[in-house]
Amino acid sequence: MIINKAGIRIAFLFCSLLFTLSCSTSYDAKGVFHRTRQGESLIWIAKSYGVELQDLAELNNIQQLDQPLAPGEKLYIPEKRENRFKKLPFEKRIAESLKETPGPSKGRKKRMGKKEKEKIYTEHDRFIWPVEGAVLSPFGIRHGRRHDGVDVKAVLGTPIRAADDGKVVYAGSMRGYGNLILIRHRDDFFTAYGHNKKNGVKEGEKVKRGEVIGLVGRTGRATGAHLHFEVREGEKARNPLFFLPTPN
Ligand SMILES: [Zn+2]
Repeated sequence: MIINKAGIRIAFLFCSLLFTLSCSTSYDAKGVFHRTRQGESLIWIAKSYGVELQDLAELNNIQQLDQPLAPGEKLYIPEKRENRFKKLPFEKRIAESLKETPGPSKGRKKRMGKKEKEKIYTEHDRFIWPVEGAVLSPFGIRHGRRHDGVDVKAVLGTPIRAADDGKVVYAGSMRGYGNLILIRHRDDFFTAYGHNKKNGVKEGEKVKRGEVIGLVGRTGRATGAHLHFEVREGEKARNPLFFLPTPN
């Protein structure tokens, strides 16, 4: 059988599609992989690649520095340059919101300054779980693609709760995400809730921590009912598991 280049490309595209069916909100990863060797620490790897320890920790779901790295572990090393991804429509919303009303965030930035460089920052009481369920797909790299949130399993129609007090900066429908809600919180943090069956809040509305804001669905490109949940600090995607209570 003769397979030409176009055929290979189509086959490749088809495979990429298969891998991203659970949630469409993933993007090609531009970094490299590092296979750990005996005695290497996360701090050493971050230093040798010139990347932030915190980014490395969040992208690889490592919350503690005292966990020794197993030799042969595959770690994702992000590309150094900022803005390596095309801006998403909802990131534009974040940028607009930040421009309209710059929030008071200096205190926190100071706290997370240079002194913390050799520590991994977690804040498990920053947010509450918007729905309770197993994490189907973590934050980070999945089959060579970057997933900017976590997918939480939940039955169709499960109430979605606001992860903290805040103000709705977007409630509508976006390509891939389906029905999507974006909430701005203190310190320029934002949370996003995607694939909703129904959005229960409107743009400009103030919400309280724990308030029901919508229902879990499978709108957009999602194979089954789940919540795609993101935490953003400004436009930067942060690992939600670093900011949510650790499940029992
Ligand atoms: Zn997702």
